[in-house]
Amino acid sequence: MNELHDRALGAYLGFAIGDALGATVEFMRPREIAARFGVHRDIIGGGWLKLARGQVTDDTTMSLALGDALIHGGSQALRQHAQGDETLIRGIGDAYVHWFKGKPVDCGNTCRRGILRYLRDGSLQGDYNPGDGGNGALMRNLPAVLATLGDDAAFERLSIAQSHLTHHHPLSDAATLGLGRLLGSLLKGMSHSACQQWAAQWVTDNPAFKFTPYRGYATAYVVDTVQTVLHYLTQHADFETVLIATVNQGDDADTTGALVGMLAGAQCGASRLPPHWLRRLQAATVQAITAQTSGLLALAHSVKESSHA
Ligand code: MN
Ligand code: MN
Repeated sequence: MNELHDRALGAYLGFAIGDALGATVEFMRPREIAARFGVHRDIIGGGWLKLARGQVTDDTTMSLALGDALIHGGSQALRQHAQGDETLIRGIGDAYVHWFKGKPVDCGNTCRRGILRYLRDGSLQGDYNPGDGGNGALMRNLPAVLATLGDDAAFERLSIAQSHLTHHHPLSDAATLGLGRLLGSLLKGMSHSACQQWAAQWVTDNPAFKFTPYRGYATAYVVDTVQTVLHYLTQHADFETVLIATVNQGDDADTTGALVGMLAGAQCGASRLPPHWLRRLQAATVQAITAQTSGLLALAHSVKESSHA
């Protein structure tokens, strides 16, 4: 496995680890977590969703639905999307509908509303909605980053289009593009200190997400989510340390955990993920993520090759 592949797989598996670890304490307050667990650090399932040990939630399964749609559409659909063709985005909408009909363990309100709208009228986005500032589009964008690696215009176009199927809000868009670009840089080997500098610069350009001083809110509002992710990510370089710190902040802990796991997993690579957590993930999840990572990187490669042809 080359270094890029190891980092990409680390990001996707790290995402699932963060989802599974955080879900146990989703919607809990930090004080409640401390009273119940001391420090929550083991993948044990449970939580308000009553998960099996190692089970992931909508964050991971919806990402897998996006990844499946991208791989199924293939490089031709990605190239045609650049020419204004919407077939790929309809394929993604159909994948979200299929995911939703499969009775996922959880589904956010804005995701549900958007999927039902697409199902009803086939529209690829709703009107701008001030209530669409949740983190649901941001949380599932990892496959779009992998599939367009090395082509920033394609990354931006695809990220916005997949987001708008359910979330039409400028802060959701800014967060999805910002963390997606950060992931892209980490996959190429960006150092921890460069990551800290990137975050400081990014919040200067996007002041709504300013995370110092940290306010301690980790809700599903995309501003709170991103502030929590960047606060912890810039505090700690070690995967295990940063993920434990993040999920013990509680609230939308599966999603903040997934996003921090993704970014820290890209930094350390799959080969250096903590084995005791990796072992706890369900085998089918690890298999699906492993296959998808290869498929999405191959897609990015073939799109780049053809654009140079
Ligand atoms: Mn979830
Ligand atoms: Mn969540």
